[in-house]
Amino acid sequence: MATNTINPVWDFSGFMHRFDQGRYATWFKERQYDTRPTWKQLFDAGVECFNWLIQDPATEPVCFTTRGVCLVATLCYQYGGTYHVYHGTIPRGGFLDTLWDAGALKAETWFAAARKYPHPNDSDLTFHAEDGVLYTCETAFKTLNPAKGCEAPRMVVCGANIGRSVKRYNICSPCRKIGRGLKVKMLLKGSARDLDKKDRREKALRKRAQRKEKNRREWEEQQWWEHQQREIVEAARRSRERQMWQSREVGRRHIGNGLFADADDLKASFVVRRHSI
Ligand SMILES: [Zn+2]
Repeated sequence: MATNTINPVWDFSGFMHRFDQGRYATWFKERQYDTRPTWKQLFDAGVECFNWLIQDPATEPVCFTTRGVCLVATLCYQYGGTYHVYHGTIPRGGFLDTLWDAGALKAETWFAAARKYPHPNDSDLTFHAEDGVLYTCETAFKTLNPAKGCEAPRMVVCGANIGRSVKRYNICSPCRKIGRGLKVKMLLKGSARDLDKKDRREKALRKRAQRKEKNRREWEEQQWWEHQQREIVEAARRSRERQMWQSREVGRRHIGNGLFADADDLKASFVVRRHSI
């Protein structure tokens, strides 16, 4: 799939890495966090990239597309205790070629989802900034599914048209479908802070549910111990009763000077003896 490219190689010299050159350039940055970045942190990290793009004299003249827009998609993928964050601009030039050439092979779940929901208003050959980071993440981890015990990937997009100030950028309908298909959580409306509030609320609810569950288990355990206690007391009572009854019996049998208390017992004894001979 041939688009015009100038020099499809990586340049690692800037704050963001660049693939290809001039108006065919696509920029990336990878970061790692040891603790979970909030939505606001992810958003701000994306804005930092955007600001670098529009402030650096080398990138500013070419970072906007021919439609006059510059976007930075940010994807956060948790793997173990590390949160890998990928920032990427709209795929152009050599990187757009790479998505087409290597996508099906190196990032097949993203590629399948992207082909399922193409961008109808664009040329069929277009991918969006969201596609670029999904591709990059899947090539790194060979999957977009969260690892065991890890959170689903999260995505935010920021950017602006030429001359406008940077803000949350609306994720387009096909990209939303791609994201949902890949079970990616996205900042779709409101602010990053709203999602952080929602996360905190959910965390509090989870904790409350855990506390409730713990209390329930403790209550059950208490019930079990009380039950055991009652069983022990009851067993002791039965044992005492049996002993009392036995000693009464023995006492009854030993009445008088003979072995047996009365003639019936004596007879029964003879019967038993006869049988056992
Ligand atoms: Zn899109």
